[in-house]
Amino acid sequence: MAYKLSIEEENKEIARRYKDLLKGAYQSFTDTDKKEIRKAFELALEAHSQQRRLTGEPYIFHPIAVAKIVAYEIGLHATSIIAALLHDVVEDTAYTIEDIERMFGEIVAKIVYGLTKISHLKKDQDASVQAENFRKMLLTLNDDVRVILIKIADRLHNMKTMDAMPPDKQVKIASETLYIYAPLAHRLGLYNIKTELENLGLKYTEPEVYNEILDRVTQSKEEQDKYIETFSNIIRESLDKEGFKYYIKGRRKSIYSIHKKMLSQGVTYDEIYDKFAIRIIYKSTDKDEKFDAWKIYSIVTDTFRPNPSRLRDWISQPKSTGYESLHITVMGPQGKWVEVQIRSERMNEIAEKGYAAHYKYKNANERENGLEDWLNKIKDTFENANGSALDFVEDFKLNLYAKEIFVFTPNGELKALPKNATALDFAFAIHTQVGMNCRGAKVNGKLKPISHILQSGDQVEIITSKSQKPTIGWLDFVVTARARNRIKNALKESQKKIAEEGKEILTRKLKHLKIDLKEKVVNELVTHFKLRTSQDLFYRVGIGSIDNPMLKEFISKRNNAFVSFFKNRIKRSAVKQEIIEKDEIVDQYDSLVFGKEEEHLDYKMSPCCNPIPGDKVFGFITINDGIKIHKQDCPNAISLQANYAYRILSAKWIDSTKQEFKAIIKIYGIDHVGMVSEITQIISNNMNVNIHSLNISGDDGLFEGNITVSVKNRSQLQKLCDRIKKIEGIDTVDRIYKH
Ligand code: MN
Repeated sequence: MAYKLSIEEENKEIARRYKDLLKGAYQSFTDTDKKEIRKAFELALEAHSQQRRLTGEPYIFHPIAVAKIVAYEIGLHATSIIAALLHDVVEDTAYTIEDIERMFGEIVAKIVYGLTKISHLKKDQDASVQAENFRKMLLTLNDDVRVILIKIADRLHNMKTMDAMPPDKQVKIASETLYIYAPLAHRLGLYNIKTELENLGLKYTEPEVYNEILDRVTQSKEEQDKYIETFSNIIRESLDKEGFKYYIKGRRKSIYSIHKKMLSQGVTYDEIYDKFAIRIIYKSTDKDEKFDAWKIYSIVTDTFRPNPSRLRDWISQPKSTGYESLHITVMGPQGKWVEVQIRSERMNEIAEKGYAAHYKYKNANERENGLEDWLNKIKDTFENANGSALDFVEDFKLNLYAKEIFVFTPNGELKALPKNATALDFAFAIHTQVGMNCRGAKVNGKLKPISHILQSGDQVEIITSKSQKPTIGWLDFVVTARARNRIKNALKESQKKIAEEGKEILTRKLKHLKIDLKEKVVNELVTHFKLRTSQDLFYRVGIGSIDNPMLKEFISKRNNAFVSFFKNRIKRSAVKQEIIEKDEIVDQYDSLVFGKEEEHLDYKMSPCCNPIPGDKVFGFITINDGIKIHKQDCPNAISLQANYAYRILSAKWIDSTKQEFKAIIKIYGIDHVGMVSEITQIISNNMNVNIHSLNISGDDGLFEGNITVSVKNRSQLQKLCDRIKKIEGIDTVDRIYKH
């Protein structure tokens, strides 16, 4: 459709759109607000006056439309509306951030700066680049969450006006929308925007699929309308008799969701039975709102037989996005199962628009705080992110789509967590320090390990101990991004500390051998031990996995190699350069372990997929040939897992220097006051050793104890035993082997 308007008509249209922007916003504006919004509009109008959109329309249509989404659908305040109007000014015109700051103050300038920064991110399509973009984008949240919200509005309008764009660009932008923006909108409770983004995303990434489903949906519309009418007519009388003010409408599944369901369940369009739901939206007062929902529920189920397993009560326990509604599936007319959603007008608005609507129903003061709370909550989700960008995105997306469970604190406070969350996740959700020191949990009054998977409705009390520290094994069972990030940070910190100590130890040891710890020697050591960085080296010395005999062996090799040194000089300097650049401790996957207990077992690599260390793998118990290792994406894997699930053994690659193992120490001696506390003190002062259990018995002044500890390696255990031996009265300290 070609765009043609005379200049006069165009100016009228701009004025009309601007007026429209101020009409339906959620927030009421003060006179100052109105003046500032006007000022922003005029600046944007002037700055973009020479620009047109690809459609031929004046550019200013775009910022006005974005500001409108921000005001109507997200429900943000004047500041965000101003920033939305200005969002492309610095990017596209001669105005600078300083100009914006001078005219509109620091906050608006900061938001506009954030938006400009995001559009400067690389636009390549590669998953890892996209992930990096996403990550950077989320990190701007530390500046101001409003940046993301305006960015989503910006993306929505761009998606709606993408027809004039070349097809290859359309696909790029659309897939980025599906990958990043739609999940984000979902998380933020912006359901209408999310649905629009998904549908538009599908329209441009898979136009044929989109059009086919659209056709089918259009065809079946009449039939659906009729069905809904029949349904309504049947219950209308009962609802009217109770004096309800309500309306009933059909809610069609979005094109994108239909497509997703067809894919995931391998069914045709006709085989999807829940293509639409029936929504009963009623007027109510604050006081009766909940009661009314259940009254309507009972009217509906009196008439139509309910499916008892399909009742969802989001009214008593709203989702963390604020969603409230009562869902039931009933056997409707023509013997068809149909979902009925019962909700008040207030709940309906929240369901469609998210938090903005939520706070509309509170008084001005609560509203202000509520929006702040919401923005803070979003920020918290992204806080403290580290690790590789791709990991981060995957973690984040897991949290986005995961089903939620609800658990209670001992005070009855409700916490929402993703499905499969463990006691440890819960501990981190309460407070970082509670997570770090988490020892166990009382779930509904019973003692459970920290890896215990929580269920909706559980009441959880966390047990902490100051001596508890995060271990690498914790990462195996936490599912929230928050817990993962905090644990990873803590591990990194402690590795750094060990590496620092290791460096000192190494300096001392080499001094004894008359060698100075120079860069050249460090590089030779790194090469000798087949490590990747100097930090790896220091870390391994620090935990004792590189010990004196190994160092001596290095020295003697070094002396022998001295002669041939000059020959290899060039090669070495190449190695050296690579080494100096990194100072991170790198995982070296050198050992395969099986099952929850991380046992070492004999195995063979399967020739069909040839896994290498670091691959995601599993073990398969063969009849004649022991355990065979397959990659998880091996073509044979699916059939093996489907047909012989009982012969599958979970397996993973680990860095053996970071693995811990349990050891039992037996102690005999002559008892004296304070002996137990001396022993425990020695153990807990020893970095990286954890006590699992302590069993002491005394008899006639004699003392016998079993202590189970976890340590990183044998030399660490040896050191520990030596120290305990020095305690007065201790006679023997031995490692014992038993289960
Ligand atoms: Mn824009």
